[in-house]
Amino acid sequence: MAQQKEENVVIFPFMAQGHMIPFLSLALQIEQRKSYTVTFINTPLNIEKLRHSLPPTSTIRLISLPFSAADHGLPPEAENTDVLPYPLIVHLMHASLSLKPSFTHLISKLSPLCIISDMFFTWTADVANQFGIFHSIFNAGGAYGMALYHSVWTHLPHCNTNSDEFSLPDLPEISPIHRSQLANNVKQANGTDPWSLFIQGQVRLWFSSDGLLFNTVEGLDQTGLSYFRRKKTGIPVWAIGPTRSKLTERAGAGDDRNMCIHWLDTCSQNSVLYVSFGSQNTLSASQMMELAKALEASGKNFIWVVRPPLEFDINSEFRAEKWLPEGFEDRIRKENRGLLVRKWAPQVEILSHKSTRAFISHCGWNSVLESLSQGVPILAWPIGADQFYNAKFLEEEVGVCVEMARGNRSEVREEKILRLIKVVMGETEKGEKMRKKACEVKEIIKDAMRDEESYKGSSLKAMDEFFDAALSMKKTRKQTMIS
Ligand code: UDP
Repeated sequence: MAQQKEENVVIFPFMAQGHMIPFLSLALQIEQRKSYTVTFINTPLNIEKLRHSLPPTSTIRLISLPFSAADHGLPPEAENTDVLPYPLIVHLMHASLSLKPSFTHLISKLSPLCIISDMFFTWTADVANQFGIFHSIFNAGGAYGMALYHSVWTHLPHCNTNSDEFSLPDLPEISPIHRSQLANNVKQANGTDPWSLFIQGQVRLWFSSDGLLFNTVEGLDQTGLSYFRRKKTGIPVWAIGPTRSKLTERAGAGDDRNMCIHWLDTCSQNSVLYVSFGSQNTLSASQMMELAKALEASGKNFIWVVRPPLEFDINSEFRAEKWLPEGFEDRIRKENRGLLVRKWAPQVEILSHKSTRAFISHCGWNSVLESLSQGVPILAWPIGADQFYNAKFLEEEVGVCVEMARGNRSEVREEKILRLIKVVMGETEKGEKMRKKACEVKEIIKDAMRDEESYKGSSLKAMDEFFDAALSMKKTRKQTMIS
């Protein structure tokens, strides 16, 4: 029998860990489907890092586009948001527009079945169009969070009112949002600043794609999915999440990994609180101090991924003796109470360990999915982007979360943190309810990914539909060329 021809899928994420990781997981998932090969595109340093972390059996082709951070006024080698201080992230966004000519040239040579690109790379739809190639944005965020993100950036509602609370005109079904739930870049936005120019320009073009893919689950995220479905009819919206693979560690994280897992093995079941604010966020020095005091006073076991506080260089060594209460690290080490991870924690493995009970999280969407996939409830401390909206969603719509603090400039007190740690660690009825709900959501997520002879989960079905649409466009293109 003649072998079926392989179709190539181009995958192109924005240069941030929270984007690269789900895109890479998606690439690995697609690679497992027969008849598709994957080309993963990014800037040289990001591609270099990936080269070390792909499984040896992977056939994903890695291609780098020429990019020099220094040419754009960025520090040399700054090709990922995880090495940039917050104010420079928007410069990386603008700099990414320079990738268009080399991307176009590459696509003209590859002629793939489809392009799956980032929500910040909407210009790739033009390129796809030019060659008659199917194009989809893969949104690594959840649909609810992204619906609010889209609506807020589109309307900048806080600019038109002095009130601290406002409703969103195209999301009447949700309760009003508060000014304190806006990320710093939104608060300062006026439509002409660099953040507005870039992000408004991008969200406006989300619907110029042939379809929208979301890293979410149909049975979990209806409010947000309906927002996108009613915004522009005719463009399919597919919930294909959670994209997940074993590949969530970065090269060089081996020691931290072993340390965390061995330590978790020594803890009793459901006794550990995991604390992390994602790949690019950090707290202020005073917030870090309050959190440390609360963790210590709680008497609970914990793993805390620490990064230098806001006021310090993000790439500097972490100075526990300077940034944490005196003797903190020694005491928790002696009591075998907790671990401080300074670089990169094996988050998925921590969350899936039987000792882990709850998560203090900034509510980046990947973290949310990783937590709920394991039935782990969340204490939210959103800091930027869509995180405030994700926390609102998890608390108001899903019931698996309590918000503990907002942003990295607000004042937060040890007493409040301590009280909520006790809730989420199961000392109150509310904590038990959250845990139960999180376990229900875990089942919903599992079901969406079920692949059995007689049953296919919603996320897998949506992925099939996506490929049907891409293949159908290719067929039409061929027929047009023949006639
Ligand atoms: N992550 C990790 N170890 C860390 C910090 C982050 O594995 O020490 C991973 C985490 O599992 C998630 C991603 O980095 O997959 C962070 O994405 P998220 O959307 O949660 O937040 P962001 O970093 O984009 O703010």
